[in-house]
Amino acid sequence: MKNIYFPLLFIIAIFSCNDAIDTADLVLINGNIVTMDKNNSKATALAVNGDRIIAVGTDEEIRRHTDKETVIIDLKGNLAIPGLIEGHGHYMRLGHTLMHLDLRYANSWDEIVDMVAEAVDRSKPGEWILGWGWHQDKWEKTPIPSYEGLPIHNSLSEISPENPVMLSHTSGHGEYINAKGMEMAGINAETPNPAGGEIVRDRLGNAIGMLRESAAQLIDNVYNEYEQNMTPADLEEQHRRQVALAGQEALENGITSFQDMGSSFDEVALLKTMAEEGNLPVRLYMAIHDPSDLMEEKLEEFRMVGYGNNFLTNRCIGEKVLDGALGTHGGWLLEPYVDLPHTSGFNVTPVSEIERSAELAVKHDYQMAIQGIGDKATRVLLDIYEKTFSENPDQGDWRWRIEHAQVIHPSDLQRFKTLDVIAGIQGVFACSDGPWVASRLGEDRTRERGYLWRTMIDEGVRIMNGTDPPVEDIDPMASFHCSVSRVLSNGSVFAPEQKMSRFQALKSYTIDNAYAAFEEDIKGTLEVGKLADITVLSQDIMSVAEEEIPNTKVLYTILGGEVKFQNTN
Ligand SMILES: [Zn+2]
Repeated sequence: MKNIYFPLLFIIAIFSCNDAIDTADLVLINGNIVTMDKNNSKATALAVNGDRIIAVGTDEEIRRHTDKETVIIDLKGNLAIPGLIEGHGHYMRLGHTLMHLDLRYANSWDEIVDMVAEAVDRSKPGEWILGWGWHQDKWEKTPIPSYEGLPIHNSLSEISPENPVMLSHTSGHGEYINAKGMEMAGINAETPNPAGGEIVRDRLGNAIGMLRESAAQLIDNVYNEYEQNMTPADLEEQHRRQVALAGQEALENGITSFQDMGSSFDEVALLKTMAEEGNLPVRLYMAIHDPSDLMEEKLEEFRMVGYGNNFLTNRCIGEKVLDGALGTHGGWLLEPYVDLPHTSGFNVTPVSEIERSAELAVKHDYQMAIQGIGDKATRVLLDIYEKTFSENPDQGDWRWRIEHAQVIHPSDLQRFKTLDVIAGIQGVFACSDGPWVASRLGEDRTRERGYLWRTMIDEGVRIMNGTDPPVEDIDPMASFHCSVSRVLSNGSVFAPEQKMSRFQALKSYTIDNAYAAFEEDIKGTLEVGKLADITVLSQDIMSVAEEEIPNTKVLYTILGGEVKFQNTN
């Protein structure tokens, strides 16, 4: 009897399954999938149809969603996490940086000359060759010939006779140029040094190519003029290249969404066109930074949520800066700097202007994301936000943000939570600033108020994560590693009590970043119905030895169900 009925039952089972089960375009199997859902569920497989996740479960469960057409990716046990979200960066500036030669890792002047030569081969005569990040102390040998440890321009001028070359020193305090650049800037043996700068000259009085401090303005002016005289078509082509390059860089780093802090309406207009064309490489969340009168005129027209298939959202005002940076004693503090006691930093943008932006944000239903680095800046922003919220009690879901939030007075911590103000931190800053923060703030104040990632989480404050590219490389593994280790380059640990757990760090890079952009319904976890934005990594960052985390590679970046980056090495 059994033998007769079994095939029949089997057929019935298949039919009923086909009724209920959607076929997937893509499935991932044999993975270590960390979903980051409410229960922190794990799975081994996941199915995608169109740009959405349709099932998460075991290999066996997910295989039921496949047919002949389904693309199956075997994750080979690797870790899959929700697509990483860069919480605070500068998208177009990142693209601009990537158009230029990155000279930070050059070991010699000869290497730099070779890089420029390659760029010249790719360029039309007259096009500028730009580079940044060089430093003569990083070179293994002094250039021959040299003057004051700096090269003489001839080697550069010979390989680039028709293209002006401008290479920015990593300090930001000088430019190195070739003969063509000097000719265009009108620099010759007779040109006097401008006040506050130096055209470096050899013993015979000939300029060697180095322009120190204000002398760099001589070439900057020529370059700015060149940029201003570009035709609209050339300019658009350049901007489109920036968009593509920044997107490629993001995808290679496992970033599927990028929150941009401070772009103009013109830039957003181009991105809108590109979203319509389907040409945006990653999902963008924009924050407008334009003068108040222009915002008054355009905010309404430019408000977009999930435009172009969830590739472009514009509903935020930022990143106006209330204060400067700690490194340059610019962060606005409640008390003076320990190592520069005559100053407590600066208020950069007048408070009245931030208040004006807040009014516009309320009027046009925009979020605010303003930079506050010092504890005074944080407090002033909390005051502005609190006043705005209490004056508009009907508008409930604010989620306004304070970007960086590096120094916070203990009495202000709870205000973040009560007001649901989000701290837009960069985990990696604790490690890049850690070596010198205490010299600015003193040991006690640093411990009490500086880079309080763990304290904030424990107090119930929502934090975000990112690297502020191009200020730091767009490298989520570096920020994740610093968030959980606080290990400085010299091996010491900066305020170890402020380490996040790995779960907290991943949460800050996924669902919390999504929340900060009102996108927690579509992003940040791997759950049925959400966008199929997925990052696959070469090792399990949730369990691998801490010092191994920075060696993690991105294997796949999947965006809306499509593999946009695959590591082929
Ligand atoms: Zn920034």
